[in-house]
Amino acid sequence: MNYTSTRDASKVFSASEVIVKGISDDGGLFVPSSFPHLDAKLMDELSDMTYPERAAKILSLYIDDFSFEELLIYANKAYSRFDGDACPVVKIEDGLYMLELWHGPTCAFKDMALTLLPHLIVAAKKKLGRKDKTLVLVATSGDTGKAALEGFKDVEDTEVIVFYPSKGVSPMQKLQMTTQTGKNVHVAGIVGNFDDAQSAVKRIFNDAEIKKELEASGYKMSSANSINWGRLAPQIAYYISAYLDLKDAGEIKAGDKVNFVVPTGNFGNVLAGYYAYKMGLPVNKFIIASNANNVLTECFNDGVYDVNRDFYKTMSPSMDILVSSNLERLIFEVCGRDDAYVRNLYAELAAEGKFEVEAETLRDGVFEAGWADEEETKDAIFTFFDLDDYVMDPHTAVGASVYNDYSCETDDDTPTVILSTANPFKFTSDVLCALGGREKDPFKALLKLQAITAMDCPENLLGLDRKEQIHTKVVDRDKVAQAVLDFVRESAEKR
Ligand SMILES: *Cc1c(COP(=O)(O)O)cnc(C)c1O
Repeated sequence: MNYTSTRDASKVFSASEVIVKGISDDGGLFVPSSFPHLDAKLMDELSDMTYPERAAKILSLYIDDFSFEELLIYANKAYSRFDGDACPVVKIEDGLYMLELWHGPTCAFKDMALTLLPHLIVAAKKKLGRKDKTLVLVATSGDTGKAALEGFKDVEDTEVIVFYPSKGVSPMQKLQMTTQTGKNVHVAGIVGNFDDAQSAVKRIFNDAEIKKELEASGYKMSSANSINWGRLAPQIAYYISAYLDLKDAGEIKAGDKVNFVVPTGNFGNVLAGYYAYKMGLPVNKFIIASNANNVLTECFNDGVYDVNRDFYKTMSPSMDILVSSNLERLIFEVCGRDDAYVRNLYAELAAEGKFEVEAETLRDGVFEAGWADEEETKDAIFTFFDLDDYVMDPHTAVGASVYNDYSCETDDDTPTVILSTANPFKFTSDVLCALGGREKDPFKALLKLQAITAMDCPENLLGLDRKEQIHTKVVDRDKVAQAVLDFVRESAEKR
């Protein structure tokens, strides 16, 4: 399988190259040259497998410079860090299911890929014969940062640097990052929002000066954000796996179509689902759910992508995003892989902060989009607990609320899977409030939430308030490049 860039389709890369590089030098994103086909025989084969085997098999179709056996070693290492099944499908009521993606070490769906990515990067470097050290740069809206820190801590020849919006993440998310241990981890807050963090990091990737300086110290940069193909590819597997689980449980028959509802920020999660669909997975609709930062809702309904708008801080901070990077990959597919078209659109976005596409083309017959405000999000948390005894985090609740609207408006009774993206205990105060309790202190709220829901808080969130806060640095958004160089110098001095 070869890869190319969304902004220059004449380029050709191997899987190892795109995993190590993260983003193309032309500013475009790496995409596979074609989509492997999921035929009935392959589906049967996958059906009999464990989750790590399914993931390794599906990855081996895309990352073909690795063998299935090798990928299976990495998948087993990654998913053995999960608490029980990696991604169970939970039945809520007839025809409605939750795909729980948060049983990993940091309690958010980012673990599905970020426990695996470090193994892929280290192995890809070996295959390419590269001896340089890797600098993993991450901009996070809350969950990617912690998952990257856990995934890359103490990985050989690797430093990981995470930037998060200093006032834009939940107290749990912040503590998870500021208390991170490990010899090679660095964390700093940014004065600004996630988009500021993301564009600062993207600028560094394309900054020849910094690249030169880093290379002089033996580093090459890579990304752990979902712009990296190695982040996206492992996410394809759980869509296929969820489908097989529904079939094996007798909830659907082979070939039946299902809907997936995906709480969306950077468009990585839902794009992985679209790739599974392109492989032949029977999907009726992907329902893209946004919070008040509803730039994608507008784009899919009206064709206008306009980031010149207010940025809202919501109770689903990992979706507080206006510049949704992976949309570029979808546009590349639906416009017939026209790299010049994509290049022009993104030049327009850089210059004007907006562009226009044809909404119907973008929807490709398979996407629907909606959004939920804070009240609707809370209502969904309350209702699901009240009626179905199911506790959701606010991101998942945005999905549930948007699905509720969709099913009322359409009468679509296709079996539907909502992707549940975080453990509710990452957002204790807001979830408690939605359930009618009140407590600002996140750890007191945790105890109350346990009492109300009879659900146990995961071990790795308990006691975060008693851990030492190691990383307290906050930098201005125009000082991010300097901070990166300082971090690299610091670790060189420590060695
Ligand atoms: C990252 C994240 C999302 C958004 O996923 P994207 O791939 O960025 O669209 C949704 N929910 C949670 C809990 C997240 O951490």
